[in-house]
Amino acid sequence: MFIDVHCHLEMFKDINGLVKESLLNQTQKMISSSVDFNSMKKNIEFSKKFDEIECCLGLHPSNILLMKEKEIDLSIDFLKKNIHCAVALGEIGIDFKHAKTTEQKEKQIKLYKKQLEIAEKNVLPVVTHSRFAEKKSLELLSDFKGKVLLHWFDGNKKTILDAIRKKYFFSVGPAVIYNPDYLAKAISIPLNLLMLETDSPVEFNGETAKPFWVKKVAEKLAKEKGISLKEIEEQTTKNAEEFFSI
Ligand SMILES: [Zn+2]
Repeated sequence: MFIDVHCHLEMFKDINGLVKESLLNQTQKMISSSVDFNSMKKNIEFSKKFDEIECCLGLHPSNILLMKEKEIDLSIDFLKKNIHCAVALGEIGIDFKHAKTTEQKEKQIKLYKKQLEIAEKNVLPVVTHSRFAEKKSLELLSDFKGKVLLHWFDGNKKTILDAIRKKYFFSVGPAVIYNPDYLAKAISIPLNLLMLETDSPVEFNGETAKPFWVKKVAEKLAKEKGISLKEIEEQTTKNAEEFFSI
């Protein structure tokens, strides 16, 4: 059994078909991350309807830039009220590819800190996004006392080693199949800190990823790490079950 620890199921049209297809391909659990108010609502619905789906609640750093203060306040209120539905806060973090000005960066940092506080208060782990801001993201996480999952972390060797030393988890996805640099980084992560993700429906090479692609990711990692698929499957599933308490 495989677990996709990071996908965005609310962005798919046919959720029933998707769950069926995942089950047929040994992907029995999907952890769907939220990006804004509507996606939080949808993911809560899905997690109630399907045993195979768990939800993370949070505001994505890129979405935050598009939101007015009032909308952010309403969303944070909603998140707090529905926190019991979530297995983690996510997808939260910073994205300096999208945030260009100091004002935009500060807006993301403020909301990241706020969501980390909520996670800590509710003893929940966090699923983090840190594109083009890996070092800064680790810096902001240094005061956080809960468990951390770095999604699609593409930092340099030094930041990866720093995160490994702090026992942060890493979820790696289909980029290992298409990007040799990212594959090399993924291979350097110890198995006891590794999980599988797809970030679906993100596109890779013009093809829309689906949660069951975690098996392809596991196959690639097994081949490159020189270990069995079974070992990757069992350890990443165990890591995910313990991390999310599922
Ligand atoms: Zn994502």
